[in-house]
Amino acid sequence: MAVLITLLTLMLPGFIQPLITNLVSPQVISKDTELVQYLLEIQDDEDIFLGIHGWEHKCPVCGEHSHEFFCSYGKIDDSVIEYKITSAIKAFRNCGLNPDFWAFPGGSFDERSIAILGRYGFIPISGLGEGIGEAGKETETSVYSSFSAMRKLPSKIISREYTMMWRDKTRAQGEFTDAFKRANDQKPNVIISHIQDLNIYTFAWFDIILNHVDVKVMELHDVTVNTVEETKQFVEFCRNRNVPTIILLIIPTHHGIENPVHEMWATTYFTVFITTFELPTMFFLSWYMLVRRKNRVA
Ligand SMILES: [Zn+2]
Ligand SMILES: [Zn+2]
Repeated sequence: MAVLITLLTLMLPGFIQPLITNLVSPQVISKDTELVQYLLEIQDDEDIFLGIHGWEHKCPVCGEHSHEFFCSYGKIDDSVIEYKITSAIKAFRNCGLNPDFWAFPGGSFDERSIAILGRYGFIPISGLGEGIGEAGKETETSVYSSFSAMRKLPSKIISREYTMMWRDKTRAQGEFTDAFKRANDQKPNVIISHIQDLNIYTFAWFDIILNHVDVKVMELHDVTVNTVEETKQFVEFCRNRNVPTIILLIIPTHHGIENPVHEMWATTYFTVFITTFELPTMFFLSWYMLVRRKNRVA
């Protein structure tokens, strides 16, 4: 019985892997990843601009993924903000990447972040970036650091996201026509999308909208080392449709394991841990239950 339960636990599909992924501390982008190689290739293209999209895209206070630099549940320490911003900028520079933008996850921040970014030459601009600020109104969600990037932006930015959560295909189908009508009315010149939402519906929708609305910028959020194929697909798509400016917002860390040797060791470690810990526990538990039942019968 005990052996059976332990074996079943081990064989549960995807039991060990997500466990390891969650326990491993975040990995920082490095030069030997396919994503960075690709970004190095395209970053000097005059139509492409890279942006730093926070550090982990995760709140240090409440753990939610919708914001990182301002939390309505509690104050984030000065030192944490300083650490996240400095580490993110360093991570990009160490790879030889020169990002033009900083964009706050979820568009939430306070003046402390702006002050630190100011030291690195980033200046606030309004209208770009994602989401609604914590105060419930639209905020200046991005900051920029380069004049070449600034020159490529429309003087009056109208940025909108229409394909939010289209990773859910039923939602994509349901909202497709209405999203087109809204975009046709609002005439945005910056179209925002999230990399998780890219699929045949999203691209088909982009195709239609680029034919009807004068879009100057396509902005892609939440690029990580795990989404290099989608990033390439997005850039190629925009190039083929002659989109004047492409902005890629990159999260510099991720929770996967980059090194296959480390991954093998981690898996072995947990497999051994579960067999040596769970097997005896289960054995004694079953034994105890049997004894109790016997006593009761007696
Ligand atoms: Zn929070
Ligand atoms: Zn984001």
